[in-house]
Amino acid sequence: MSRFVYADNAATTPVSQAVIDAMAPCFASAWGNPSSLHSKGREAKKLMDDARERIAKVFGCESGEIYFTSCGSESDNWAIKGAALRGKKKGRTHIVTTVIEHPAVLNTCRALEREGFEVSYIGVDADGVVDLAALEAAITEKTAVVAVMYANNEIGTIQPIEKICEMAHAKGALMFTDAVQAFGNVEIDLSKLPVDMLAMSGHKIHAPKGIGMLFVRKGTVLSNLIDGGGQEKRHRAGTENLPYIVGLAKAVEIAHEGLKDMPRVTAMRDRLIEALTAIPYSRLNGHRTKRLPGNVNVGFECIEGESMLLLLDMKGICASTGSACSSASLEPSHVLLAIGVPHEKAHGSIRLSISRETTDEDVDYIIETLTPIVARLREMSPLWEEIVKNSNK
Ligand SMILES: *Cc1c(COP(=O)(O)O)cnc(C)c1O
Repeated sequence: MSRFVYADNAATTPVSQAVIDAMAPCFASAWGNPSSLHSKGREAKKLMDDARERIAKVFGCESGEIYFTSCGSESDNWAIKGAALRGKKKGRTHIVTTVIEHPAVLNTCRALEREGFEVSYIGVDADGVVDLAALEAAITEKTAVVAVMYANNEIGTIQPIEKICEMAHAKGALMFTDAVQAFGNVEIDLSKLPVDMLAMSGHKIHAPKGIGMLFVRKGTVLSNLIDGGGQEKRHRAGTENLPYIVGLAKAVEIAHEGLKDMPRVTAMRDRLIEALTAIPYSRLNGHRTKRLPGNVNVGFECIEGESMLLLLDMKGICASTGSACSSASLEPSHVLLAIGVPHEKAHGSIRLSISRETTDEDVDYIIETLTPIVARLREMSPLWEEIVKNSNK
């Protein structure tokens, strides 16, 4: 193996050394319970309060609006179930979301349907941008919450969240966005973006797996998902994961500073997109420009994405077919189907998610490795033989 290139940052990211260093004292010495009144507890409480304040500062909100959770999935569940159960008390038993959400949102909505809630799943156009007219028409006085992801994890398309906020608020509904992929890649300022709730996850921004955050705007009331002790202002029970909370604060600060590198990441992304879509019978999945700086998702006809992944892996390149969550199943990606990729072509796509750690040499290596792999796999494909024959007629 000549080189190792990690291009699967949308699945997870390595924990950065600065985050490990920030967490270390919480294991070695500051191991107290933040709820304890003695000195060891107060030491822990101070670290937790400090972490919350630093995160709030980056997001442009108040520290009292930041709630720590165990992951992005928990934040998604809490925001939607909490808003739905609360809304039900006022006769709001309807939820609006999109067909391309992460499973943590889609399956939460399906669970609520089984409990009697009605859910509208709004479609997207060929670039993955949500159909705003259909969305606006779906929101009614019965809608408790509108849940639309900030940016898609498979195809990277960024949604017009501000406009969607206006539509939700015009009907008195709450607006929730899953910003797990967006934070650290695009500027998010909650003093300007009028969402009521926003979810984020640690392991997508170089903090450990198992820590997440939900922003809940002051005045917004959600039902609890986890009942128990009085942690997180009585809204999310469980002794706080202090080391990871401190790590998350460090990761949030680093990610925010890292926004200045996004033009460089975008340039690498565009170079990859240009080179890979120059291969015949390929297509870019997702919007050309309204897309995450590090996301490349390209489909190749007559190829199995899994075969491509295995051959890339043998060359030291980590990529994905789109979604880590659905890679264990043989079902094609719900996101690719939603943007109109035909069933038989949805299997031939590959997602490369690069980061600030990616170099120009990595990009060169991906291009010079992937291009012959596509050619080699096509040579073995009877479908490809057909295409070549027909194009020679
Ligand atoms: C990864 C991801 C999640 C889930 O976050 P976890 O911390 O892994 O539970 C939710 N939404 C999106 C868009 C994601 O990419």
